[in-house]
Amino acid sequence: MAAEPDCLLKSVNSSASDPHQSVKIQPGPVKTHEKAVTSKSTDSARYQREHPPGESGRVLKPVNSRPSCPELTAPVKPGSGKVQQKTTTSSESARKKWTLEDFDIGRPLGKGKFGNVYLAREKSTKYVVALKVLFKSQLQKAGVEHQLRREIEIQSHLSHPHILRLFQYFQDKTRVYLVLEYAPKGELYKELMKNTRFDERRTATYMYQMTSALKYCHSKKVIHRDIKPENLLLGLTGDLKIADFGWSVHAPSSRRTTLCGTLDYLPPEMIEGKLHDEKVDIWSLGVLCYEFLVGKPPFEAESNADTYRRITKVDLQFPRHVSEPAKNLVSQLLKHDPNQRLSLDKVLEHPWIKENRLPSTS
Ligand code: ATP
Ligand code: MG
Repeated sequence: MAAEPDCLLKSVNSSASDPHQSVKIQPGPVKTHEKAVTSKSTDSARYQREHPPGESGRVLKPVNSRPSCPELTAPVKPGSGKVQQKTTTSSESARKKWTLEDFDIGRPLGKGKFGNVYLAREKSTKYVVALKVLFKSQLQKAGVEHQLRREIEIQSHLSHPHILRLFQYFQDKTRVYLVLEYAPKGELYKELMKNTRFDERRTATYMYQMTSALKYCHSKKVIHRDIKPENLLLGLTGDLKIADFGWSVHAPSSRRTTLCGTLDYLPPEMIEGKLHDEKVDIWSLGVLCYEFLVGKPPFEAESNADTYRRITKVDLQFPRHVSEPAKNLVSQLLKHDPNQRLSLDKVLEHPWIKENRLPSTS
């Protein structure tokens, strides 16, 4: 790709006119789905009290970096409304560029394909975030700049209690930085490995949270397309957060994907290379529900060819411990014909979900 390294990313529409961003700096009532932002601030304040400055590992000296791409501006800072009002009322601060110097960097939270993720704290607001650092050279080598650009565009416009917030991004000569909501309880995948499988109450609770987040995405014509336990994180109260919008697109999609990695979560229409729409996420929701209940995905096989065959035939078998109502839900999600799959509204209303899910803590 021919992009100048310094201007790898075009500015996303993240000005104060963005409804999701602007509500964060407006005093007064917030819309329902934005309440989470307020509660996240509370979570963060609590986290802040529990982790005073310097406690969260060695505070690294920030690397001297100045973003040189003039298109990158940061009109809104994550953090409490009070500070944001102060920082966004003047036009000078509205044009403020973010740099690494705005953050204290703490311990590494994890390692990604193109860089690392660190616990970090924005200096002026003391707001705790996860800072994902991506190396431009590696992004370019893998040819995934467009994918990252789309991920940023999509995720920065989503605001829902069960979707990981992307507050801002900035860059320097060699790296792109994503300022993400911090998910203190880490990867759901690790929890699943630790527990082997989840009980029906816990599964139904996650399913409800996933479904409401997907409903919100689909209402904005966003398809996630990569729902799997590895892409789910857990908030302070153990509530689920969908992360990783790297494969997401705006619906309907005629985009044919280069399939890499495991086939386990892909619906028949995607592995068969057909056009697809938001119903691909409903299939993956069924696979996820099965994996939570059983501890492994339903069409797992020795080879990709066998997984492919099992998916296209919808070769679905349940171990004996799975209850009839849970089987009923999974079977209605894993329909070969996308139009036959249960709608997200009906998932929320499914008797097994209603009976088993625990009230939301977020
Ligand atoms: P991969 O594709 O290999 O999963 P990636 O580039 O998508 O890598 P992430 O999955 O985003 O990278 O991040 C790597 C790890 O960092 C995660 O598995 C998780 O453990 C941790 N991590 C990422 N984001 C956060 C966050 N917001 N809060 C807490 N931990 C995080
Ligand atoms: Mg990931």
